[in-house]
Amino acid sequence: MKLLREKIELEGIVLNENVLKVDAFINHQMDPVLMKEIGKEFAARFKTEKITKILTIESSGIAPAIMTGLELNVPVIFARKRKSLTLTTDLYTSTVYSFTKQESNEITVSKDYICEGDHVLIIDDFLANGQAAIGLAGIVEQAKAKVSGIGILIEKSFQPGANEIIAKGYRLESLARIESLKDGKVNFAPKRQI
Ligand code: 5GP
Repeated sequence: MKLLREKIELEGIVLNENVLKVDAFINHQMDPVLMKEIGKEFAARFKTEKITKILTIESSGIAPAIMTGLELNVPVIFARKRKSLTLTTDLYTSTVYSFTKQESNEITVSKDYICEGDHVLIIDDFLANGQAAIGLAGIVEQAKAKVSGIGILIEKSFQPGANEIIAKGYRLESLARIESLKDGKVNFAPKRQI
């Protein structure tokens, strides 16, 4: 997606060969115009799939997920990283090792919001080792629902998550694919050909 690549080039900061900082438009300050276009792009890319719900993980997945939900006219659920006092119903859980925090978190979704027969599109900001996306897919499958696809804003193609997701048979759509973060520079990979 051209607009996202341009934003990364202009405002992304390469912290090291493995981590890109995008606090200026995704992870701290957010760009609503970009998020709106991201919602349209995901809706267009997944238009042939049946989608009844969108699932993401707090907090940075919420903005692109809500914009996609608006386009597709379906509810958006976010998995919680910390147990909430008000989340007293039965929960689906998955253990996810956080790439940025380097610790394991148990992520949870109430059984009230994903049901057998749902077709769920998973959305997240980054794809690195695939832990978050695969953990979310695990929750969908615990609910006996179907994963319609996985939509990622920024895929770091040189890390193993993308190949793992494809090997598991999920449809993966990444709006920007990064081949490397060498020498302080973002090198993009072309759009994946299916
Ligand atoms: P994974 O679970 O695929 O290993 O990592 C994805 C999660 O880690 C995303 O939800 C995102 O929050 C975070 N993440 C992974 N790589 C990066 C990165 O280069 N920059 C930022 N800002 N977050 C990242």
